[in-house]
Amino acid sequence: MTSASEIYVTQPALPPLAEFIPYLEQIWESKVLTNGGPFHQQLEQALCDRLGVEHLALFTNGTIALVTALQALRISGEVITTPYSFVATAHSLLWNGIRPVFVDIDPDTLNLDPAQIEAAITPQTMAILPVHVYGHPCNVEAIQQIADIHNLKVIYDAAHAFGVEDQDGSITRHGDLSVLSFHATKVFNTFEGGAIVCPDAKTKLRIDRLKNFGFVDEVTVVAPGINGKMSEINAAFGLLQLNSLTDALARRAAIAQTYREQLRDVQGIRCHARGSQRVANDAYFPIMVEPNYPLTRDALYTQFKRHGIHCRRYFYPLISDFPMYRGLPSASHDHLPNAVRAASQVLCLPIYPTLQTDEQQRVIDLLRDASHAHA
Ligand SMILES: *Cc1c(COP(=O)(O)O)cnc(C)c1O
Repeated sequence: MTSASEIYVTQPALPPLAEFIPYLEQIWESKVLTNGGPFHQQLEQALCDRLGVEHLALFTNGTIALVTALQALRISGEVITTPYSFVATAHSLLWNGIRPVFVDIDPDTLNLDPAQIEAAITPQTMAILPVHVYGHPCNVEAIQQIADIHNLKVIYDAAHAFGVEDQDGSITRHGDLSVLSFHATKVFNTFEGGAIVCPDAKTKLRIDRLKNFGFVDEVTVVAPGINGKMSEINAAFGLLQLNSLTDALARRAAIAQTYREQLRDVQGIRCHARGSQRVANDAYFPIMVEPNYPLTRDALYTQFKRHGIHCRRYFYPLISDFPMYRGLPSASHDHLPNAVRAASQVLCLPIYPTLQTDEQQRVIDLLRDASHAHA
């Protein structure tokens, strides 16, 4: 047992408080607290610049952004999605009265397996909702090809994928819409927040109305919109946070590299292979605890906890195992063997910009010691 400090799987990057004060003073002075104020506008522009996209609508959080993205494209009926994600992915479907249809993941990428999508399409299918899990890109070409053939929309849950790029730029360009989360636990955060990346001004206009109750002007409401607006405080914090993003990503990359090097020869621990991305964001560091490791994943998880190291089992349980989903025919474990295996083996290790070298070493040492203890 160690008396060293607790280590969490992630910690939000917080710029010095003093740097935030001028933003607050500006808000107090203008008395504009929300409703698309100056910081909201500036952050939308700054994020478009950073991501290299043309149109983006800020939201109060990623979940409301997902719910609204489905509304914006008027999706109903059935939507094909992955069981291996954070529960909000599928919840956004239920909030729209849509039936989720779970399709298994690729055992290597852990993303929705395009080869299994077509068998799940029915006359009710209107869209595909894949997730770029851990910020590793989905096979966007294969998914788009299927969508084109069957006339389906594609909405990417890109909550993990801020800053991730393929050969041609941000992976949020793909599909009909991509949804980002700026929750405190994400690579870029606004305390709570999110965004929809949209392909054209017309779509952004529709989304901007939907996130503001459906208002077009003071007296005209054109849709049953929701309140999904990001406040000025959150937007201001996002602007400040953007200043340190490049450094934060570099630090994450260095931590990931150290894990890869130091865990390479640990029997039974397999680091999740790097994805197809040209620019990664190292949002997570998942390892697979395989049968030849002396401890089970859950025993290792508990062992870490005893040493004050709080890893997370992302993603366990599978979404399809939660009570509101498990009755669906597509939720059967026989139908989702790769997702079931991943959920039983995965453990996400601590990774965040302020993780100290000696703290990371504690994590590595514990993995190595446990591997020797019973060898
Ligand atoms: C974080 C997350 C969400 C939800 O975003 P919030 O901003 O927390 O509402 C949705 N999907 C995935 C995959 C996430 O990781």
